[in-house]
Amino acid sequence: AWLRICERLKDEVGDVEYRMWIQRITLGALDEDEITLYLPERFLRDWVRAQYGQRLQSLWREESSSVQHVELKIDKKIQRINEQTHRAVERQVEVASTATIGEMAHDDAVALEHDELPAFASNIEMRNDLSVPLDRRFTFDNFVVGKPNEFAYACAGRVADHPASPGFNPLFLYGGVGLGKTHLMHAIGLKLMSRGNISVAYMSAEKFMYRFIASMQSKSQMEFKEQLRSVDVLMIDDLQFLIGKNSTQEEFFHTFNALVDAGRQIIVSADKSPSDLSGLEDRLRTRLGCGMVADIHATTFELRISILEAKAKASGTPVPPKVLEYLAHKITTNVRELEGALNRLIAHADLVGRPVTLESTQDVLKDMLKAHERRVTIDEIQRKVVEHFNIRLTDMSSARRARAVARPRQIAMYLAKQLTSRSLPEIGRKFGNRDHTTVMHAVNRVAELMEQDPGLAESVELLKHMLES
Ligand code: ADP
Ligand code: MG
Repeated sequence: AWLRICERLKDEVGDVEYRMWIQRITLGALDEDEITLYLPERFLRDWVRAQYGQRLQSLWREESSSVQHVELKIDKKIQRINEQTHRAVERQVEVASTATIGEMAHDDAVALEHDELPAFASNIEMRNDLSVPLDRRFTFDNFVVGKPNEFAYACAGRVADHPASPGFNPLFLYGGVGLGKTHLMHAIGLKLMSRGNISVAYMSAEKFMYRFIASMQSKSQMEFKEQLRSVDVLMIDDLQFLIGKNSTQEEFFHTFNALVDAGRQIIVSADKSPSDLSGLEDRLRTRLGCGMVADIHATTFELRISILEAKAKASGTPVPPKVLEYLAHKITTNVRELEGALNRLIAHADLVGRPVTLESTQDVLKDMLKAHERRVTIDEIQRKVVEHFNIRLTDMSSARRARAVARPRQIAMYLAKQLTSRSLPEIGRKFGNRDHTTVMHAVNRVAELMEQDPGLAESVELLKHMLES
């Protein structure tokens, strides 16, 4: 019966409302005359009761005439788990002394293996505004809504209008690259700030980590913590970056709890759902999934067309529908690429002073696909070959003639000729200033050997494949 009721409600209220509210109900006790439904938060319970209470009751009555009353309760179990986490969290905060945090941060800095880090870190002015500036174009109005993103859009809108409602805190947005996560986060921030006195901090998880480490190195971690804990809304983009960065995760976890406990809104994006982000600590994943989790799916052809139409219109340059269809067919990966292709077409049309046509589009796109092709460098080829044959890099330019180094050297020259657009003299220069005739000889010789020796041919093909992928 409950399933039928859910299905009917879904039809009545639509997918978005359904996922936002109804789907969070858990079926409890079924008595003769009373049905008990649970919701994880008081706020959600009150909302569902106000919006859908009557309807739930009448639907139950239709299923079973003996039902007198539908009771909506808060799910104590989930509540208790929440409280336990809170208490555990408080203990953690007390235990974590400054010294250990400092050491852990060092591990993250090492894990990062980022050469520029020390220079970068010391450049950070900790007194600076915490947030990275928001992109003014990333508004709700400029976001094109379709089936794949309507739920995330609705959730983002809801949080922008009512920040820190318990059932929506944190808001966790996830989906593939270039599907609009950052856009939606900025849209939330812009809308909140347009309504006045509210402090919003937006930054990537990467930036969060840099700042955290920088605050350690400049001994201003208290200041960093205080700044973070003083915002009304904290948005962290691309959280998957924190995988394997354990002390930064730890710091984020504490920040997260402090803010949520203080009734501030947290918004996080990632490329996967909390449960699929293995590599994040369990307790962090659990808390990330406690609010609203909204996914953005890959675009459909329809959505791509709508987006292209909107962007073409905004550009002011007329683009024929045939061209938009062509683009929506060709570029299916993500919205960023789609946008990039359209922008190129328009820029090209402006430059040559001719309108966008299907022919010009095919031409320009061909160039674009070519530019996307991976370019292999001679250095890369040399490194791969040296690694494969277990010789030294210096042997690539040395004068040694021993077969064990001369043959790999010839193979590297052959690959350089095949995989790059370098001329014979240019290749020769990269191999210890050898003459172009030497390179030509090497290229021919390897081709010959490949025909005679299937084992060698296979090695060369394998190298080629590895270099090209
Ligand atoms: P993500 O953060 O998910 O990788 P972005 O938010 O950076 O993706 O989006 C990439 C680009 O595509 C941005 O320029 C953004 O404005 C645009 N974009 C993505 N989805 C939409 C949409 N539904 N409507 C309009 N523009 C979009
Ligand atoms: Mg992004």
